[in-house]
Amino acid sequence: MSEMTRRGLIAGTAALAATPVLATAPMAGVQAPGFYRFKVGDLELTQISDGAANFPMPEHFVVNVSTDRAIKAAADAYLAPSGKITVPFNPLLINTGSKLILIDTGNGQVANPAIGRLLPNLAAAGITPDQIDMVVISHIHPDHTNGLHLKDGTLAFPKAEIMMPATDWAFWMSEENAAKATDPINKNYFTSAAKTLSDLKGKVTPYEWGKEIAPGLTSLATPGHTPGHTSFVVASGKDKVFVQSDVTNIPAFFLRNPDWHVMYDHDAALAQKTRHKFFDMAAAEKAPVIGFHFPFPSQGHVEKDGSGYRLLPVVWNPLV
Ligand SMILES: [Zn+2]
Repeated sequence: MSEMTRRGLIAGTAALAATPVLATAPMAGVQAPGFYRFKVGDLELTQISDGAANFPMPEHFVVNVSTDRAIKAAADAYLAPSGKITVPFNPLLINTGSKLILIDTGNGQVANPAIGRLLPNLAAAGITPDQIDMVVISHIHPDHTNGLHLKDGTLAFPKAEIMMPATDWAFWMSEENAAKATDPINKNYFTSAAKTLSDLKGKVTPYEWGKEIAPGLTSLATPGHTPGHTSFVVASGKDKVFVQSDVTNIPAFFLRNPDWHVMYDHDAALAQKTRHKFFDMAAAEKAPVIGFHFPFPSQGHVEKDGSGYRLLPVVWNPLV
């Protein structure tokens, strides 16, 4: 750089510092509401974001590989620049034309502003809680069930019938099973279920697998993550989507590496078998898959890729 240019640049920089130019709009610092609508045949579906948790990757997040290998996988997926991972939560609203059905309820009203965003995002999508006719829970884990109640303990969806997978409802609400639990994660799940769901005894409708539990919504057996873990197929006319629930947690880890076990699985070997079966089917049928923990708007097609699978996310479509 010539001396003249350098001096000119320094003078210019000094002038800039002396009279700061402000953008005509302040920085917003907050995200837009998270909801995404799409059609499946005659049904209108809305993916509602409950937010995403960013936390240091726990030591045994992937139970059956070394922490170093898991951190490398996170870095390779640009997931954890500071050793943290991000896990999104995405409940699904289905408008059948005659009924509003919510699948899973997210984390509930918690202090962390990054999660528990279901209700404000539902409001942004134009839905009030008393419009929901049915809440269908995929499995009994707190990130799926805590949103059934408000902070004050009252029901978040006061007019909704609450549907629970029969196997999970029997398993997690059993005091006998709770007493037998030794693993700290499982113990926590039992404590949380007893604390947050006991008031629903006698009010819940247990549902079975392989049944059309609402028009266009069929439950699929995908056990392992929990004993009664359930996925769904939503179908109308020639269209269908699979709702995988938690067959995999974050896809960059467990879809790419379907034999990796997330620390939250109840029966990891069964969950692994279920994962292969479910994704072989989804890949063969070329139907979109919605994942509760997939990056928002949490759906895409799944293809086989070597010994694992890859997710080809949907392209945002401005028209419903
Ligand atoms: Zn989950």
